[in-house]
Amino acid sequence: MSLPRFQSKTHGDTGAAPKLHVVTFGCQMNKYDSLSVEGKFRRQGWQTTEAIDEADLVLFNTCSVREHAEERVFSWVGELRKAKERRPELMVGVMGCMAERLGDEIYGRSPVVDLVVGTRSFQHLPALVDELREKRAAHPARTPRITRLGFDEEPDAARADEPYVGGRHAYLTVMRGCDLNCTFCIVPKVRGRVLSRGIEAIVDEARWMIDSGAQVITLLGQTVNSWGEDLAAPAEGEPRGRGRQGRPALADLLYRLQELSGLSRLRLITLHPSYVTPALGQALRDCDKCDRFLPLPAQSGSDDVLRRMKRGYTTDLYRRRADILREHCPDIELGTDWIVGFPGETDADFAATESFLAEQRFVVNYVFQYSPRPSTAAEALPDDVPAAIKRERNNRLLELAESVQLARLRENIGRTLPVFVEEPHDKHEGLLRARAHTGLSVSLKGATTLVGTTQSVKIEDCTAYSLAGTLASELPAPPPEPAPAH
Ligand code: SF4
Repeated sequence: MSLPRFQSKTHGDTGAAPKLHVVTFGCQMNKYDSLSVEGKFRRQGWQTTEAIDEADLVLFNTCSVREHAEERVFSWVGELRKAKERRPELMVGVMGCMAERLGDEIYGRSPVVDLVVGTRSFQHLPALVDELREKRAAHPARTPRITRLGFDEEPDAARADEPYVGGRHAYLTVMRGCDLNCTFCIVPKVRGRVLSRGIEAIVDEARWMIDSGAQVITLLGQTVNSWGEDLAAPAEGEPRGRGRQGRPALADLLYRLQELSGLSRLRLITLHPSYVTPALGQALRDCDKCDRFLPLPAQSGSDDVLRRMKRGYTTDLYRRRADILREHCPDIELGTDWIVGFPGETDADFAATESFLAEQRFVVNYVFQYSPRPSTAAEALPDDVPAAIKRERNNRLLELAESVQLARLRENIGRTLPVFVEEPHDKHEGLLRARAHTGLSVSLKGATTLVGTTQSVKIEDCTAYSLAGTLASELPAPPPEPAPAH
């Protein structure tokens, strides 16, 4: 006999809906996927709960990118051992990058886990949970488990059939996977090749988010500016996009989203220099809802290191792509990640990175010390930069980044900038957090009623990380012109 599927609002004998708790690790894309999974379960009659100990199903949405991320998941999962002894019916699932990388190995390390579901299979989770319950009912003495991995070639449909609950700032995944093969990166292995969603599904989902209160939408993709590369080229007579051979390109998507009323700001995470085109520069220039800030990771300023990383560009190519963007939008700001201590990085390579940072004048710099990640190509390279040198380079680059950022942010003092007011400041009462159209963080005094509005702010001060200013409308009146001398 099989158990009823969780499609009604009742659960067992209690009459209550079953409850799901999702623990999310890692990037914004994982947060998007967690919201999406919660929605799928709610549509099957489940409730989501903040309290892990009242959940019938606990899902861990995991990350494999940073060192220790997987260890943290194992220790969290281990915490459920006692709960599972008390309540054997509790179900525990691991989804996301770590599930895709380790597969069934997870059961060996964490016997409490019942389900392992990879990065592109999570849309099947409610059905898989039903299947697991059926197996448990049929074989109560065994420990049935379900693993679902691999890359379904089915792009996500629009999520418009339940209320959007993500708040004012929405994240919208427009593509999954990556066609590049940077040697330090696990993403192509755990997320597969690029799979772009169709433009109509994205626009529908954006509209749904806006109708439910979102004002800022960040488009997510591992290489978001490669969106459309895998979509079909138009047939003869069909409308042409701005991409390769008339394919749709990110520029087309930005023009469409710009038209949505109720949308205040559009942001992008993360871009790759290889896919920067003049069409993208033009779209950023024409679409005033797009932030003039792009995360465009350089990773290193040494061509030798870039080659060993297989990044697919030299510093000269990066420079030319950044110049395309600056020609179209002179006020555009770029942010970057850096990896220091990559295998074989010499003092001269590191000096080249310092020069490139200073030359490109990045306003946002994230610095990471290289550590080999399992299942990447770079794992086979000798990790030959001593830890002390990695630390020293990390600190030197951070120091340089701070001085460059401070100089860049100081250039804004005295300017009046349009800013979108994001939220009350979490540490200082009476202050608001805002973001300038160039992506820079701005704090200002003001009433919370300004949250969600665009204001003009006169910039008066700054640190290396943010600007501070006063509402232009509330600036003290300038002193009267001195009377002309007679
Ligand atoms: S571009 Fe490189 S670093 Fe970025 S997701 Fe693809 S393989 Fe990873």
